[in-house]
Amino acid sequence: MTQPNDTLFGKIIRREIPAKIVYEDERVLGFHDIDPKAPTHILFIPKRYIPTLNDATPDQAELLGQLMLAAAGYAREHGFAEEGYRVVMNCNAWGGQTVYHIHLHLLAGRQMVWPPG
Ligand code: IMP
Repeated sequence: MTQPNDTLFGKIIRREIPAKIVYEDERVLGFHDIDPKAPTHILFIPKRYIPTLNDATPDQAELLGQLMLAAAGYAREHGFAEEGYRVVMNCNAWGGQTVYHIHLHLLAGRQMVWPPG
C-alpha cells in the first residue's frame, strides 16, 4: 500500500502550498529552500514518496541518481560548476533531517567549510 505523503514537500508536489520551482521533470522537482543557507540553496526531491535515505530501495537507485544529475545540471547552468558547490542529504535526527521526504540540498555561491556542523 502506498503511504500518504503528508509532509510539506508532498504538499509542494501537489501544489497545495507554493514554492519557487526551478526544475521539474517526470520524476524530480527542484525548488528554492525557504530559509537559504547559501546564496543559492535549491532542494531536489523525488515526486515519489521516500521518507528518508534509509527507506530507499535498490529499484530506486536510478531515481536517486536523477536527483544528483538534476542538481549538477542546475549548478552547471547557473555557473557554479567550475568554482564548486555542495550537495547534501540529511538522514534522520542526528543527520539534521527536518522534513521527512528525501531531498538533496544544492548549496552554492559561497565557500563551504568542512566538516559541516
Ligand atoms: P532538512 O533539514 O535536511 O530536512 O531540510 C529541510 C529544508 O527544508 C530546510 O533547509 C528548510 O529550510 C526547508 N524548508 C522547510 N519548509 C520549506 C518550504 O515550505 N519550502 C521550501 N523549503 C522549506
